[in-house]
Amino acid sequence: MLNIVLFGPPGAGKGTQSQKIIEKYKLQHLATGDMLRAAIREQSPIGKEAQKYIDKGQLVPDEMVINLIAKELENHHDVPGFVFDGFPRTTVQAKKLDEMLEAKNAPIKMMLALEVEYDELIARLLNRGKMSDRTDDQDESIIRGRLDIYNKTTLPVMDYYKAQGKYRGVNGMGTIDEIFGRICEVIDNEM
Ligand code: AMP
Repeated sequence: MLNIVLFGPPGAGKGTQSQKIIEKYKLQHLATGDMLRAAIREQSPIGKEAQKYIDKGQLVPDEMVINLIAKELENHHDVPGFVFDGFPRTTVQAKKLDEMLEAKNAPIKMMLALEVEYDELIARLLNRGKMSDRTDDQDESIIRGRLDIYNKTTLPVMDYYKAQGKYRGVNGMGTIDEIFGRICEVIDNEM
């Protein structure tokens, strides 16, 4: 199985690049942010709970996203692999993901980490906030708070995969197609 963690700060382009990766390599996209927003739209109990955190720019509790991913892994048996987008965001999540994949005998093959300059991230997120109804992208102080949480809580996940020899940095500056080209080069190299 080709299981990929697509990693990077908010605004790095994970969602955009995930779409292109799943199309080219026929993989299953698992994006916890998308799942949580769907739950919010449905106003399910999980959605209502998640909204409290998301609106403030905080991470939702580990257990909540781990359960969502566990369910999705069960729902998709015959896929050639998964692209994990926005998950794991903590080392607790990363360890749990390894356990779940171990049970399926299908470990993470690589972490692709999109690297984008801080000012560019702020500009992209503010722009996305203008064009979508994502409330967490409309307020610059919430955006900066999310980037702080990324630096403090999520960056250690990079070291977790580095220690396993799975970290692959990708320059995330430039056009969508330029970045996708760099991603494909890394993936093709590993296949
Ligand atoms: P995203 O669309 O990936 O930027 O996620 C939007 C928001 O959903 C984040 O700011 C978090 O509040 C929440 N979220 C998404 N994925 C996770 C995760 N793996 N762990 C904790 N919170 C998450």
